Amino acid sequence: QVRVRFAPSPTGPLHIGGVRTALFNYLFAKKNNGVFFLRIEDTDQNRYVPGAEEYIMEALQWLGIAPDETIGKNEKFGPYRQSERKDLYKQYADQLINSGNAYYAFDTAEALDAARKVKEEQGKTFIYNHNNREKLDTSLVISSDETAKRITDGEHYVIRFKTPVNETLHLQDIIRGAVKFETNLLDDKVLFKSDGMPTYHLANIVDDHLMETSHVIRGEEWLPSMPLHVLLYRAFGWEAPEFAHLPLIMKPIGNGKLSKRDGDKMGFPVFPLDWKTEEGVSSGYREKGFFPEAVINFLALLGWNDGTEKELYTLEELVQAFDLSRVHKAGAKFDPEKNKWFNHQYLVKQKNEDLAKAFAPILIEKGFNVSENVVTKVVSLIKERAHFVSEFWELCDFFFVAPTSYDEKASKNWKAETPALMQELISVVKEITDFTSMNIETIVKDWMTKNEIGMGKVMQPFRLSLVGALKGPHLFDIVEVIGKDETINRIQKAIA
Ligand code: GLU
Repeated sequence: QVRVRFAPSPTGPLHIGGVRTALFNYLFAKKNNGVFFLRIEDTDQNRYVPGAEEYIMEALQWLGIAPDETIGKNEKFGPYRQSERKDLYKQYADQLINSGNAYYAFDTAEALDAARKVKEEQGKTFIYNHNNREKLDTSLVISSDETAKRITDGEHYVIRFKTPVNETLHLQDIIRGAVKFETNLLDDKVLFKSDGMPTYHLANIVDDHLMETSHVIRGEEWLPSMPLHVLLYRAFGWEAPEFAHLPLIMKPIGNGKLSKRDGDKMGFPVFPLDWKTEEGVSSGYREKGFFPEAVINFLALLGWNDGTEKELYTLEELVQAFDLSRVHKAGAKFDPEKNKWFNHQYLVKQKNEDLAKAFAPILIEKGFNVSENVVTKVVSLIKERAHFVSEFWELCDFFFVAPTSYDEKASKNWKAETPALMQELISVVKEITDFTSMNIETIVKDWMTKNEIGMGKVMQPFRLSLVGALKGPHLFDIVEVIGKDETINRIQKAIA
């Protein structure tokens, strides 16, 4: 059975890249009738940020990609929070010690810094591996008695993985194909610390094994960890899951990974939801007015397509179309403008009634208590021009307030004969009984034709009178909504 996981560390708000990882796991699971589970990797207590876990859950919930198993939900292989599995990991670290795949090390931070410095002065990077482990303070050079004594004396230790020597690992990644690693270039990574906590590497492998993870789908930044992870599975004698490393998400302009700073600079969010701290708010897609479906849609296309030109997908369609082997190797450029376009596509698809409901609080805040019917009608007329509900007011304020000024450039259409024409128009409008857009249009146009009045002579000043500028939806739709009296008032005001 396909079992995949999203395994974030609760170190802050979930970055949009993390959400993409969650989504691809979700899609892969659903496509294969598998299970998508969420595991919280909180073994690094120093980096733990309160609220981050709740944030992650809420974000996935909002997006409609909640996990099948997680904390408090179908805890088949629980607990799903690593800090609660703490007691489990030591035995696995011991197992590796006993099989000769790991060892105790007592190096102080100062000693490691000094060793690092020596290498740096030679222009090299310090690698804690077989080339120097004998020179360092490890159980590979001190007797087992001394090792035991130092541990009982309470000296700080770590358990390190004993990376095999002189081996070229030929590994397979679903997205990247064949990948090769030299073990001599790998650090002997820390697996366990004397505070009783495993590191990410140990906990991750133990849990992926115990939770029967079939595929590890994660960001490319974890590719360098792949050889260690594969070696750990081998050292335990466990079958390794398959690996798929997703391409990086790149900044919209220039090169490099998308960062929070790009978002701040260009005014787009890099988080799914608002994240509030004492320093302020990092804005999220939800609060910016994005529909979750739009966010899902643009995230799905960051590094994947189905081979056609198709761009709009429901979650269901994505599940059907998704294929890990079609994920690209190259980084995927983040495109905030395109993301807005996606939101527009979903906005116009919403029911007018629903959009009206979303818009109503803004109208009330502006001091307008308008009937639901009218709001629904207005929304239907302007939504084609909006990316967000928050743009509605600017696009439709003239439905609710008469213009107080008239666009100057447009005023050049206001000629000497215009007031007289507008006066005549008032008389025409006054007589209309069936005050619906189409009927008003027919009557007004008939009047113009009969009197051989050019369209531009009436229509532009008419619009200017009602809107204050040459913008807005179909003029007669506006006339219908604001009604006969208001139409006449506005023309009068414009003439005066
Ligand atoms: N806890 C890791 C993270 O924060 C998980 C990486 C993985 O999926 O193995 O992304």
